[in-house]
Amino acid sequence: MEVGILGGGQLGRMLALAGYPLGVQCAVYDPAPDACAGQVAPLMCAPLDDADAIARFAQGKRVITYEFENVPVSAAWWASAWTPVRPTPRALELFQDRLLEKQFLREVGIPTPAFAPIDPENPADALEQVGCPCVVKTRHGGYDGKGQRVAHTPDEYLQAVAQLGGAPLIAEAFVPFNRELSAIGVRGRNGEMHAYPLVQNHHHEGILRLSIAPAPDSNALLPTAQDYLKRLMDALKYVGVLALEMFQVGDQLLANEVAPRVHNSGHWTIEGAHTSQFENHLRAILDLPLGSTAPRGVSAMVNLIGDIPPIVPILRIEGVHLHLYGKTPRPGRKVGHITLCADDYKSLKKTLAMVISRASLNLPIDPIS
Ligand code: AMP
Repeated sequence: MEVGILGGGQLGRMLALAGYPLGVQCAVYDPAPDACAGQVAPLMCAPLDDADAIARFAQGKRVITYEFENVPVSAAWWASAWTPVRPTPRALELFQDRLLEKQFLREVGIPTPAFAPIDPENPADALEQVGCPCVVKTRHGGYDGKGQRVAHTPDEYLQAVAQLGGAPLIAEAFVPFNRELSAIGVRGRNGEMHAYPLVQNHHHEGILRLSIAPAPDSNALLPTAQDYLKRLMDALKYVGVLALEMFQVGDQLLANEVAPRVHNSGHWTIEGAHTSQFENHLRAILDLPLGSTAPRGVSAMVNLIGDIPPIVPILRIEGVHLHLYGKTPRPGRKVGHITLCADDYKSLKKTLAMVISRASLNLPIDPIS
């Protein structure tokens, strides 16, 4: 086995699938015996806090990587005693803690919303720094909008702190953004870096529902986004794919979150770019030449969340690509995605409307202006 992946969810599954045409074999490590990547790659099922099991998994691999940022940092450091871990475990350490993450972004010169750690003895201090409305978030373990509350008044703020209390918290100014964008880049061991076009993202209840790539009217923002990616990745001597989620406010970009891994808003690259984010991640960590990140036309990606719609009417639509992850449907669970590719936004919009109606998806009606 060449590549060992810590985590066996859909991202691990799509990484393993991208390995096949390159002749790269992946193995996955996950505590869940039914982890969906285990359907396409050998699965080692053991807890992530089992140092001996991690060592056995890492031995003999060419490289270890990870597919979700809440892999315990200790697991990545244990693996690194045997085999190179790429991206560096330091990236996990930073980006799984919202406070360290924001401090690091500030250090490398990337603007963020105002933020402050919440002192449980004196929560009013943080509120004074960020103002109202604000968002209270747990420092650790939050994803897809979990572990956060929006507060419109000081009373709501104190309630949110009490509700999320017990865990270390951070307060952030609420950003009245125009839209959400993500920048996805890949950096090789020699420092070579490529960025995909900016992606426009639509969330509902904190979960990504729809991505449009390239984000319409985003050319003027791309140099800034590329500069941010470069600052982040160079500072960490990062190797692999990284995603930076941002808010656009006027012509400004504010960083919200960094994912040191392949990202949901990059799934469109499988069909919509010359080289997918999954292939480029494997190329980077295996020290192979990176592939072109240029788009082929325009794409939209919709997540299938909670259940799988009838697939026959969807597959009848031209330009549609269905990806099911082999997961048992459950409310709020990402069970698959659909990518649509077109030559221009006008035809993309038409196909998207068809997908939304045939899959009965609850999505913004006019996401492409
Ligand atoms: P996160 O888990 O930080 O990625 O947040 C999930 C979603 O909540 C984001 O994609 C935004 O839609 C929203 N959100 C998070 N932080 C803020 C903020 N400071 N201001 C406004 N909306 C936010």
